[in-house]
Amino acid sequence: MAYSSTILDTALGAVGHTPLIRLDRIAEHEGFKCNLLGKVEATSIGGSVKDRVAKRMIEMAEEDGTLIPGKSVVIEPTSGNTGIGLAMACAIKGYPVVIVLSQKMSIEKETALRALGAEVVRTPIGISVDSHLSHIAIAERLRRDIPGGVILDQYTNPNNPLSHELTTAPEIFEAISAAAKTSDRPSSGTMDAFFATAGTGGTLTGVAHAVRKSQNPACKIVGVDVKGSLLALPASLNTPYANTSYLVEGIGYDEVPPVLTREPGYIDSWVKTGDDDAFAALTLLMRKEGLLLGGSSGSALAGTLQWLKETEEGRALALREDANVVVVLPDGIRNYIAKEWFQTLALESQGTAMSSQLADV
Ligand code: PMP
Repeated sequence: MAYSSTILDTALGAVGHTPLIRLDRIAEHEGFKCNLLGKVEATSIGGSVKDRVAKRMIEMAEEDGTLIPGKSVVIEPTSGNTGIGLAMACAIKGYPVVIVLSQKMSIEKETALRALGAEVVRTPIGISVDSHLSHIAIAERLRRDIPGGVILDQYTNPNNPLSHELTTAPEIFEAISAAAKTSDRPSSGTMDAFFATAGTGGTLTGVAHAVRKSQNPACKIVGVDVKGSLLALPASLNTPYANTSYLVEGIGYDEVPPVLTREPGYIDSWVKTGDDDAFAALTLLMRKEGLLLGGSSGSALAGTLQWLKETEEGRALALREDANVVVVLPDGIRNYIAKEWFQTLALESQGTAMSSQLADV
């Protein structure tokens, strides 16, 4: 990692700089020949892809005078990870912080937020974004009521996608070009396909922007949307799953956030994944690659495998030995370790030869 041999001024220096890891065992399991590469964001210091966004939003707001030390209070509606990134930055910089979080989101996230000194306000589950009880509406009400209250607003803030354009994307490009020079594995030297889930859409549009502008305009960019969300295009992809609820956190939305409307033409296609697909893919990440990741990492991988197996372009790419297929794996299992779905998943397929031998001991 770029920072491992230096002394960092603060923890913010260890945001991002995440590894791109070959998912060879999963590729082999699926019969793929391509380089299947996971960008593992759980190793960012706050534990997720959203650390990058939080850091940049805070730094830019300080620069343009929106945030004033000793006066401002940071308030943010989030599904948790942006909140954790903001709470980390605010702990370092001395801003009070209030995070507004739906009841859907895990107790682990709330505990992490409180540990970092944030106040946490919970909003009811299953509320539409335009309700006066939504996390966005409650955050707005708090902003009006709290003197010095500032919402940096990841759903509209251009620094959200920019953080990915300026950090996530270059890290991927650098890793791919370094491997093309130093590894004996075949490589096109460029990113040939890119997959990301969408919550705000910042990861997807930010990396897409960098790819289209500077790297490989021919790279396939695929958004992974959860069944029950309305972010995928064409909208007909979403219709069969209207009113579907889902357990995976941090992804999906019932209104397209402004961040995602930036250059929608940059996204070539969308795939839809459900909880079952996500949990099956997460089991592969854990059991075949040793990666303890969160539910949306399962969604991201499930969408990637679906596109590579079920589209003509995908099948061609999957069989190309030199193709670099990158999937962003947004957070780690810290956020979900006590969730019932994870407890079930962790104990699943314990009926192996060895566990029956152990049962006899
Ligand atoms: N996965 C998780 C766990 C997240 O917290 C988020 C952010 N809400 C995402 C995926 C989606 O990231 P983005 O907001 O960049 O679309």
